[in-house]
Amino acid sequence: MREVIVASKRRSLALFGGTFDPVHFGHLRMALELRQLLNFDEMRLLPSHQPCHRQTPGVSSHHRSEMLALALQGCDELQLDRRELKRGGATYTVDTLEELRGELGSKVSITFCMGLDSLLSLHRWHRWERLLELAHLVVVTRPGWHLPDGDSEEHRPLLELLARHRGRVADLHTKTFGCLLLREQSMLPISATQIRELIRSGQSPRYLLPVTVLQYIENHQLYREAAAGDQ
Ligand code: ATP
Repeated sequence: MREVIVASKRRSLALFGGTFDPVHFGHLRMALELRQLLNFDEMRLLPSHQPCHRQTPGVSSHHRSEMLALALQGCDELQLDRRELKRGGATYTVDTLEELRGELGSKVSITFCMGLDSLLSLHRWHRWERLLELAHLVVVTRPGWHLPDGDSEEHRPLLELLARHRGRVADLHTKTFGCLLLREQSMLPISATQIRELIRSGQSPRYLLPVTVLQYIENHQLYREAAAGDQ
């Protein structure tokens, strides 16, 4: 059985999307662990320009991607993909995946990774049902977040999607799209909201994010004012 999997193993690209407002050790650790544990050939962090299903980021796309570039300096295992920032306008993951499919063709496995908090709003994403026709989805459970129970009317389409597409780790390497995996993986209890609040209240977020990112925040005096969604 093992030989069959190895023989048919596809080249695999994984994407970890987010606003990264700012990037912190929770994101970085998760991306690295996913790459290593799920054995992806490549893992890219994908900052979103104007996410439609959540509040507008507190600082510009330029600052957010510069902070990501600093955080990834010297790490060969994680790459930065700025395509959503370059494309501009509203960011739709489905457009990004269609673009990548066009570039990579049908033989490469593509996996989009997200936390459970993001999965719970997936049914409000633009053309969300198309996502699994383009890529696999890996969802990592997040402290304080749970899958809705079967009685949740709002989440019924999501639960059906989960039932239809639930896959195993091997599927990520033998198929190129279409599987949804839930991973129980430890997440550092850090959030960008917490970091923004610390800075706004004059406290230090040191040790929650790379020191180069902290220096960038200080040099550009970021997050001193509350963003609209943080108030
Ligand atoms: P905010 O507090 O502003 O909502 P965030 O810290 O949740 O931000 P995002 O940029 O919104 O960060 O998240 C990008 C992705 O990273 C999401 O899929 C989210 O679930 C995941 N994520 C966020 N925090 C962590 C963490 N501590 N560990 C692992 N993954 C995380």
